[in-house]
Amino acid sequence: MKNLVILLVILGVIWYWRSHKAKRPPTAPPPEAPPKTGSVAMGACAYCTLHVPASELVQGQRGAYCSAEHLRLAENG
Ligand SMILES: [Zn+2]
Repeated sequence: MKNLVILLVILGVIWYWRSHKAKRPPTAPPPEAPPKTGSVAMGACAYCTLHVPASELVQGQRGAYCSAEHLRLAENG
């Protein structure tokens, strides 16, 4: 009967050690977040070569411009 108690104590210590060891946090580094900049399509102004988002470009007959002012200057001036 005494041997059974010793065996249970040893098993309990092993179980405690294994469960405690499994709770350690993983050593793998967190995944890198994808860069949020650069996902927007950019376009260059045909007049001043300024790069602006494609959604803000003003489309003219000779190209796209950063503003209506540069469209007028490039195509009417
Ligand atoms: Zn411009």
